[in-house]
Amino acid sequence: MQHDELWIGTMLEGKARWVAVRTTDTVEEARKRHGLSPVAAAALGRLMTGTLILASSLKGDESITLRLLGDGPLQGVVSVGNALGEVRGYTREPWVDLPLKPSGKLDVAAAVGTGELAVSRSLQNGEVYTGMVPLVSGEIAEDLVHYLLTSEQIPSAMLLGVLVEKDYHVAGAGGFLLQPLPGATEEDIQVLEGLLGQLKVGISELVAESQGMDELIANLVGRLSYQVLERRSVGFSCTCSKAKLSDSLISLGKQEIESLLTDGTAEMICHFCNERYLFDKEDLEALRESVGN
Ligand code: ZN
Repeated sequence: MQHDELWIGTMLEGKARWVAVRTTDTVEEARKRHGLSPVAAAALGRLMTGTLILASSLKGDESITLRLLGDGPLQGVVSVGNALGEVRGYTREPWVDLPLKPSGKLDVAAAVGTGELAVSRSLQNGEVYTGMVPLVSGEIAEDLVHYLLTSEQIPSAMLLGVLVEKDYHVAGAGGFLLQPLPGATEEDIQVLEGLLGQLKVGISELVAESQGMDELIANLVGRLSYQVLERRSVGFSCTCSKAKLSDSLISLGKQEIESLLTDGTAEMICHFCNERYLFDKEDLEALRESVGN
């Protein structure tokens, strides 16, 4: 059985870099955890996949947060990833339903709307750098390419896709990034541009049809040879815990905890993974004590 993986490599004798990722299980887990509609699964799935691709160049415990701040019915989509290949995310309105586009595809751009993309990198020294660009299409891959070009001066081509079946389960999801490296000639760049243009089906269909990463990458790069530099597992993973949610309850203050105590219990839900944490009377009393006066 296949698992989600991210592979990094080069081609054109080291004059181009690529990142390929299969995220079928990751996006299916997000869909089940949040009860996502097909268009919400496509939007969050594409963003989580793009997050893993951008996170693949991070080091140590660095992380990256991508926020789609659009005025569409999803009311924002957020995804956080790290160098370990872990990603989590959510959308404010997981049940959004929209008519399909005339092409029969899910209308991710309409669900996202117009607005901005914010990309925040948390570095190992604790500093956070945020870059903001306007959304150019709301289809997400184009928006990330625009971000890479304008904020980081890196020209790239990117594919992101999520294939949702009629029964709502995710049959295939993944992404592909191509970047020319220093030394690439005009001719090399034309070869790279031609590669993605010649694909007959979307990346999500290619992921669904491929038996493994080798087959997926071969389908993407055609007859060209490529080198694999690194392989890593990726997956949905949240960093929440009862202790962390206790801290956010404490930050609400003593009065708020006392009002929760009048109900006897409190339930906290993690936005990112929809995990529920129950705080009973004893828990709440302990929190009230820890707040002090
Ligand atoms: Zn969580």
